[in-house]
Amino acid sequence: MNSLDARRTIEELKELRRLTSDEHGAQRVAFTPTWVQARAWLQEKAQSLGAETHRDEAGNLWMTLRGDSERALLIGGHIDSVPNGGWLDGSLNTLAGLEILRRIQAQYDGKPPLTVRLIDWADEEGARFGKSLFGSSACSGNLEMEEARGLTDKEGVRLPDALREQGLDFERVKESGRQLKNAAAYIELHIEQGPVLLDLDLPLGAVLGTFGVQRHAITFHGQAAHSGSTPMNRRRDAFLAAAKMSPEIYRIAERNGGVCTIGSCLTKPGIVTSVVEECRIALDQRHLDPQALARMFEEAREASERFAKEGNVTVAWERLWQIEPIPFHAELIDFCDQAIRETCGQSHRLPSGPLHDAAEVARAGVPTVMMFVQSLHGISHNKIEDTKEEHLEMAVRAFDRLASKTANWVLAQ
Ligand SMILES: [Zn+2]
Repeated sequence: MNSLDARRTIEELKELRRLTSDEHGAQRVAFTPTWVQARAWLQEKAQSLGAETHRDEAGNLWMTLRGDSERALLIGGHIDSVPNGGWLDGSLNTLAGLEILRRIQAQYDGKPPLTVRLIDWADEEGARFGKSLFGSSACSGNLEMEEARGLTDKEGVRLPDALREQGLDFERVKESGRQLKNAAAYIELHIEQGPVLLDLDLPLGAVLGTFGVQRHAITFHGQAAHSGSTPMNRRRDAFLAAAKMSPEIYRIAERNGGVCTIGSCLTKPGIVTSVVEECRIALDQRHLDPQALARMFEEAREASERFAKEGNVTVAWERLWQIEPIPFHAELIDFCDQAIRETCGQSHRLPSGPLHDAAEVARAGVPTVMMFVQSLHGISHNKIEDTKEEHLEMAVRAFDRLASKTANWVLAQ
């Protein structure tokens, strides 16, 4: 007998929307009164099904069904949203997880064979302080304390002060890491937030991992000269070299099966009466495979040097940010695939462009996988974010199957 009720998850999503949204969308920004209210609502539901609840040092909310074994299956989500956010991002994961706790509680009459814990991560979105994955990166031990200590919101409030208002001590946030002590596996359901499943006309996909990112500023340096008096063959035009390189950079990404974006271009002196002396572009390259990502970076650098030489200018690279690709667990990816096929016939494996809390848990060494459900319009972080209700129901059912398969796998170890 399986008491899972996927319809109830949809009803609860709508209930949460009624409680915490206005005409512009969801307003559950972390560390605000609406977020606190949303969490109290969630905590109440968890307690009434018989879960123990506990808030850790980083403000993550843990809802635990204690089992015969201390080894724990973790199910993650985040009830916080961006301002004017959608109704599914983060909440679907959380409320599907809640429904799975209910099913397990009923099936084992309150005494499951292993411990199952639902986590509502604190401040996944980073909407207020510009630092996403706060709670999960504190828990995984990857939070940069120096950087986070100095973060302020647009009113000038410091992150440590905002935490103190919630009764949290910034200097102790990493102590939350001990919650992972008995973690045997971590699963997370999420809306795709992109168009891949929509274009394939498939409801669900198994996520292979999150992209690695290489982000650089590339500065070409030439010589400023009068736009009228300088013959074309005498110019050292920094913009021209950057412009010629750009299509090559996109071809490199395509050839290697990754993605790249030249997101900004700044010229100096920046007036039309002068040849460009300095041109600085920002380049973001992403790939799931570390070797391919390294190759994309190397090839882009070679291309920049080639075009710089051709244009008689110089070029310099400066790293702005990088993160390694984070692959999910091979066996759990297989379980995810199976769970999807058993639910709706066909599955698809895809990487995740955005980072998620799951990536932090995987970095902490816990076997991890995510499941994606199709997003309509391929859009998120917007009140028009949506998914067909039939797909949401399938997602809850497939995710529950994944939970069972993963629990059995943990118990067999
Ligand atoms: Zn999310």
